[in-house]
Amino acid sequence: MAYVITDKCVSCGACEAQCPVGAISMGDGKYVINADTCVSCGACAGSCPVGAPEEA
Ligand code: SF4
Ligand code: SF4
Repeated sequence: MAYVITDKCVSCGACEAQCPVGAISMGDGKYVINADTCVSCGACAGSCPVGAPEEA
């Protein structure tokens, strides 16, 4: 299981620095999570101002 960033993402970049395994990067119009790297810690969801990361 991994987190995914939904279309609610406003590309603020706050979550990228919070991810302990570097799974988050800028994608096409929004940030994306590498599902193979994500350890589902939830830090991105906790740091996101719009609640875009959700557990898949
Ligand atoms: Fe990174 Fe944790 Fe978010 Fe997965 S749940 S992308 S490991 S911050
Ligand atoms: Fe997108 Fe939320 Fe990450 Fe900001 S913190 S880049 S809005 S997912």
